[in-house]
Amino acid sequence: MKEIVLVKYGEMVLKGLNKKSFEDMLTKNIKRRLKRLGHFQMTSAQSTTYITPLDDDIDLDEVVERVGKVFGIAALCRACVCEKDFADITEKAIDYCGGVLGSAKTFKVAAKRSDKAFPMKSPEICAELGGVLLEKFPNLTVDVKEPEVTVTVEIRDTNAYVHAENIKGAGGLPVGSSGKALLLLSGGIDSPVAGWMMAKRGVHIAAIHYVSPPYTSDRAQLKVEQLCEKLTDWCGGIAFYCVPFTEIQEAIKDNCPEEFFTIIMRRLMMEIAQRIAEKDNCLALITGESVGQVASQTMAAIGCTDAVCRIPVLRPLVGMDKTEIIEISRKIDTFETSTLPYEDCCTVFTPRHPKVRPRLEDIEKAQNSFDFEPLIQKAVEGTEMKTFNYSK
Ligand code: ATP
Ligand code: MG
Repeated sequence: MKEIVLVKYGEMVLKGLNKKSFEDMLTKNIKRRLKRLGHFQMTSAQSTTYITPLDDDIDLDEVVERVGKVFGIAALCRACVCEKDFADITEKAIDYCGGVLGSAKTFKVAAKRSDKAFPMKSPEICAELGGVLLEKFPNLTVDVKEPEVTVTVEIRDTNAYVHAENIKGAGGLPVGSSGKALLLLSGGIDSPVAGWMMAKRGVHIAAIHYVSPPYTSDRAQLKVEQLCEKLTDWCGGIAFYCVPFTEIQEAIKDNCPEEFFTIIMRRLMMEIAQRIAEKDNCLALITGESVGQVASQTMAAIGCTDAVCRIPVLRPLVGMDKTEIIEISRKIDTFETSTLPYEDCCTVFTPRHPKVRPRLEDIEKAQNSFDFEPLIQKAVEGTEMKTFNYSK
């Protein structure tokens, strides 16, 4: 039996966006994701993309697994290819959907006929096929409102398709349709989740990470690179910028009051991030901050950090609890890597008593007592870039 994969995008989403460019971007993202699995033909019609494998040995489970992580898709399913002939459609529906129909109590048949030359109209297909299935599976009754199983028949240009499953897609918008933003990626739990959430809204992600050797180790950086690689399954290709941050942190420690260390460090991180963002055409920064989580994430502290930002800072986790964030990190498979015990530059020189309600003028005064500009420039120049792509 020949099978294909059907991908449905949400109609709601299409209203606000240019439909054609949305479709093109989604198709491009799916093609990229499937490239290493073999050859496929892809056609789109009526908010559906039809993925037809052209090689014999393609693993459709793997196709579904990968496409299930492509943003912009409301639902997907495997479907059986039939002749445009009612007898063949019936036979295949019994065979292909037999498993689910055999163990269900209620069902209905839905038909879509885009080829109007097909001799039966949709209600007729539903009634006829429904009758045959009722006879074949005595366990079933019809429920048109809330059926356990919906057998869908689609009559299209060259073939008909039958399917009975519906898998929830990743939702959101196709990555790239909202432009690019730079994610401040630490090795922690939060920032990978923040990146994933913005990718879901169609944002193409680039990542920036600050390292402070010898206070932070190579393994800490490798862990962040591993997180980047995991994110590519959802986000596509990621440019990863690694910033040497040691001298700046030492300068903060030697020249600023201890209670302000963290806020000044965060302001300098933002400053560097903006310069990299500008070079790489990123329209915003993304962080994993959540109000009240730590001393540097009180509203007053966020205000002091934001004061140096000239582009928007997106904080998708801002109102979320840690348990909610952890739930997503498990779902997107970053949790285990995030909880490996390596140090982050944020934990170097942490003040014993950080200010939870810092005043901007005090912070500015403390920061202005030392000229950080040459060190900022040096850090930007010393930044190394690597690109990550799908892990498989
Ligand atoms: P996370 O779990 O993402 O590390 P966190 O709760 O540990 O977050 P902080 O350490 O205060 O919080 O960091 C807040 C945000 O600052 C992070 O979510 C991340 O966006 C950014 N950040 C922190 N450390 C780094 C780093 N070394 N490189 C890049 N960004 C960082
Ligand atoms: Mg952290």
